[in-house]
Amino acid sequence: MLDLLIIGGSAAATTAGIYGIRRGLNLKIITKEFGGEVATSGEIGNWPGDGMTDGITLSDKFKNHLKYYKVNIEEGIEVEKITKQEDGTFCVSTKKGSNVGMAGEKMADGKEGVLKCDYVAKAVIVATGVHPRELGAMGEKEFRNKGVSYCSTCDMPLFTSKTVAVIGGGNSALESALMGVDIAKKVYVINKNPGFKGDEVLISKLTSQPKDKVEIIYEVDTKEFVGDKFLTGVKYSSKDGQVREIKVEGAFVHIGMVPNSQIVPENVEKNPFGEIKVNVRCETNIPGLYAAGDVSDIPFKQIVIATGQGCLATLSAVQYLNSRK
Ligand SMILES: Cc1cc2nc3c(=O)[nH]c(=O)nc-3n(C[C@H](O)[C@H](O)[C@H](O)COP(=O)(O)OP(=O)(O)OC[C@H]3O[C@@H](n4cnc5c(N)ncnc54)[C@H](O)[C@@H]3O)c2cc1C
Repeated sequence: MLDLLIIGGSAAATTAGIYGIRRGLNLKIITKEFGGEVATSGEIGNWPGDGMTDGITLSDKFKNHLKYYKVNIEEGIEVEKITKQEDGTFCVSTKKGSNVGMAGEKMADGKEGVLKCDYVAKAVIVATGVHPRELGAMGEKEFRNKGVSYCSTCDMPLFTSKTVAVIGGGNSALESALMGVDIAKKVYVINKNPGFKGDEVLISKLTSQPKDKVEIIYEVDTKEFVGDKFLTGVKYSSKDGQVREIKVEGAFVHIGMVPNSQIVPENVEKNPFGEIKVNVRCETNIPGLYAAGDVSDIPFKQIVIATGQGCLATLSAVQYLNSRK
C-alpha cells in the first residue's frame, strides 16, 4: 500500500512529490496530464530564480526534477472518486480503471455497483487545479476545437493573421487579447462589464492598441457561436436587446475557472465556489486528506502559492503518517 498518493501533475503535485520522496515516503503521482495550467501559462515572469520563462519550459523543469528523484508518475489517469475506508485508508477509483459504480449504487443493468480501488493509500493530496468555465452560449460545445478555445497559449498560433474574439474581462482575457495582438490580424474583445478587472499594466497596454487592431465591445452578452464546419462568427446582444454578429475564425473564452474538486468524498467541506476548504497546514476536514494549489480555497492562484501548498500538504501528511505508526 502507498503511504501517499498525489493526484495532479503540476506545480502543487510536483512540490508534494519532491518533499515526499525526500522524506522517504512510498508515494506515487497520478495525473490526467502533466503540466496543468502551468504549461498553458505563456510567459511567466514571477517564478523566482528564472527571470522571464514560459509555461512549457517551467513544467518540463518540474518533470525533470521529479525524474531526478525517480518519483513514480503515471500519466493519462483521471481520478473519478476518492473514498475513505473503514480502516482509515483511501480508495481511489479512476475512469480508465476498475471502478464499476459505487458500493450499493444501482447500475443500468439492475446489478448493485461494487467499489473497486485502483489505488489505495494511507494519505492523499488532491492537487487537481481548475478548468476553464464555459459560457453556456449556443454553439459553444459544437464549435469547441473548431474555432472555440479556452487556451490561448495552446491555440492562438492557429489563428495567425486571422480575426479572433476574446471573451472575458480579467487578466486571462487581457493576456489572451494581447497575445492576439501579436499573432492575429484583428482582435475583438467582448466584455460583459463596462471595464476590465485586471492588472493596470495589461489594461493600459490593451486599451492603447490601434482601433483597427483591437476593438473592445463593452457591456454585451455573448449569445451564440455560429458557423458551418468551423466557427465563422460570434453573436452578442447589447443592453437594448439588439443582437449583432462579428465575423471571426477563432473565439477564446476566458471567464474564470472551476475547481476540479468533484472527486473528493461528499463530506469534504468546500466553499461556495467549490474550492476545497483547507487550514494553514493544507488539511481538509477529513484526516489524511489534503488539498493543495488552485483546487483549494487559498486566495490568489499563483504558481509559487501552489508549490508552497504542495510542500505544506506533504509535510502535514508526514506528521499524520508518523502519528498512525
Ligand atoms: C493563462 C494563465 C496564465 C497564468 N500565468 C501565471 C503566471 O504568470 N504566474 C503565476 O504564478 N501563475 C500564473 N497562472 C496561474 C497558475 O498557472 C496556477 O496558479 C497553477 O498552475 C496552479 O497549479 P496547480 O498545481 O494547483 O494546478 P494546475 O496547474 O491546474 O494542475 C492541475 C493538474 O491536475 C490534473 N488533474 C485535474 N483533474 C484531475 C483528475 N480528476 N484526475 C487526475 N488528474 C487531474 C491536471 O491534468 C493537471 O496536471 C496562470 C494561469 C493561467 C490560466
